[in-house]
Amino acid sequence: MARAPPPADHKDGMRTKPETEYLDRKIETASAAEVGRLQEAKLARQLDYLFARSEFYQEKFNAAGIRRKDFRRLRDLERFPFTTKDELRESQAVCPPLGKHIACNIDDVIRVHSSTGTTGKPSFVGLTRSDVQMWTRLTARSFFTQGLRKKDIVIHATGLTLFVAGLSSKDAIESVGAMFVPIGTGASEKALMAIQLLKATAMHCTPSYATYFADWVRREAKLEPSALGLKKLFCGAEPGAGIPAVRAKLQEDWGARITEGLGNADMAPIIFSECIDQSGMHFNGQEFVFVEVIDPETGESLPIETGVTGELVYTSLQRECVPLLRFRTRDRITILGTSCPCGRRSFKLRCIGRTDDMLIMLGVNVFPSAIKDVISSFHPQTTGVI
Ligand SMILES: [Zn+2]
Repeated sequence: MARAPPPADHKDGMRTKPETEYLDRKIETASAAEVGRLQEAKLARQLDYLFARSEFYQEKFNAAGIRRKDFRRLRDLERFPFTTKDELRESQAVCPPLGKHIACNIDDVIRVHSSTGTTGKPSFVGLTRSDVQMWTRLTARSFFTQGLRKKDIVIHATGLTLFVAGLSSKDAIESVGAMFVPIGTGASEKALMAIQLLKATAMHCTPSYATYFADWVRREAKLEPSALGLKKLFCGAEPGAGIPAVRAKLQEDWGARITEGLGNADMAPIIFSECIDQSGMHFNGQEFVFVEVIDPETGESLPIETGVTGELVYTSLQRECVPLLRFRTRDRITILGTSCPCGRRSFKLRCIGRTDDMLIMLGVNVFPSAIKDVISSFHPQTTGVI
């Protein structure tokens, strides 16, 4: 039987490459021990910088009786205090505009984002040129893991302005050589026109927008979303795309592969993302972020092993403006694996909610994402909206 020809490439005539490639092969296929050694050396330098430059951490370390020499090995980090979102908010309130936790000269800040939603007072995150370059590489690696390639034409149907994954996604997608189409939010008519006229291959959006937009296309344009030809949906900014029933419906609606990403507005826009195996999000920040999983009740560090559930805690490894140490994300995750058919050796996880949105019903821990999975599984009897 003759093999099907590779998909035609209408952008630049480049041949389609197999999608098991890596953006940064060496680091993505490095063993946990190799990555650990690199992280240890980078964390030591980041701590030198914090002890010398960050008033915020100088005060915290003094209060906790921690000295620089207390860190020699990665595991020594467990002796250092956590950083919470409330502390960053307070730091910015008492020391505007960027807070006591900025560790660089403010003249070196070239961009700010907001790490909070559109309501209330924004919580700013500053970036130096080096911080922007780091975010771009990490975000690009995450999109590449999800299957983004140079030939892609990507509709960006999520926030562009203060939102951390707006301009950072633009920089990252362009750095891979793909075409970035800045649509933004709430512009379904423009998004549809761009998909059709530019023959877009991919879309970056929230899972709830992908759901809404599919219904909108059917209602307003009288078209089946799957007829539009999108091959890849890069979802993120909220849980959903990893929930089996939601993913199945989106894949059916769009006839596209759904993969999801996870980041943190105070650390980096996308830190974890799923490869085309779709079996959980790989950690992509090897040389940029140190990750711990902790018991949210006791603060105890848990092993990075399949089946472990806990809260994600991030530590910067090379940041100039706002390096954060043991930042508590409140994201509750489960580790799904430490190996993958794609060859990446970083661990994989799924985010199952926030440690602060868990309900306890009749003594059982219940997460909104679990309820969404059940409701969505009744489709088409229900819309899946809750
Ligand atoms: Zn993989």
